[in-house]
Amino acid sequence: MSVKLYALTCGHLNGPFDALMEGGEGRIDLPIPSFLIEHPKGRALYDTGMHPELRTNAKGRVSERINSMFGFSGFGPGDDIKSKLEAIDKDPAKVDLIIVSHLHFDHVGGNELVPNATVIVQRPEWEAGMAPESEARFGFYKADFDKGHKVKAVEGEYDVFGDGSVVCLPTYGHTPGHQSLKVRTEKGEIVLTGDACYFCRTLKERRLPVRVFDRELMLASLDRLQALEKGGAELIFGHDPEFWKGVPQAPVPLF
Ligand SMILES: [Zn+2]
Repeated sequence: MSVKLYALTCGHLNGPFDALMEGGEGRIDLPIPSFLIEHPKGRALYDTGMHPELRTNAKGRVSERINSMFGFSGFGPGDDIKSKLEAIDKDPAKVDLIIVSHLHFDHVGGNELVPNATVIVQRPEWEAGMAPESEARFGFYKADFDKGHKVKAVEGEYDVFGDGSVVCLPTYGHTPGHQSLKVRTEKGEIVLTGDACYFCRTLKERRLPVRVFDRELMLASLDRLQALEKGGAELIFGHDPEFWKGVPQAPVPLF
């Protein structure tokens, strides 16, 4: 079965490089990626970017810490997931699945704009998200993801369409239940790393972000990603601005 994969850039976030990668200097413009997967059995998104309210009322939406770290001026009108899908003639109401890498605001903020999808999330991530201390402890905002979607909480590897073409890979560590996504296309195996690995250098040099849920788990996840790469998979680093320059954008398929 053939699967088509498309990259959508849902604006940019400007942040401090040293917080995102040990030894980073200055500030960096992070692309905010979403991916559309078209499978004969359904249409899925891997992440949905940020909520449009961040453009007008970031202080009312995310914490002071996030506001002091990040600049939102690179998130323009038309950069939200709904606008991005409509620009390529896809109806957000006809997306069947949202596969959530993790529950941070730059990955699930657009869930509300994709109203009819079932959310696929790792169970430890969902449990952390629904916990009372979710915001203080994990930096998750229920306003982003507690939107009444059907939720399928999975544990470990999960074969989304039952044919091995789209498989959730647990890559815990960045958050309690982060997952990457392996997609088998006509041109080979692709792994969307999500925030298990922000940059190419994160993998090569093992320079982690300053704040992570569990360093050891994250390092083990990086080992896993590296093994997949050695096995021939191509890794996609969604927040890496240099890498992202070479990624074809929808409607041109990534693969
Ligand atoms: Zn992120």
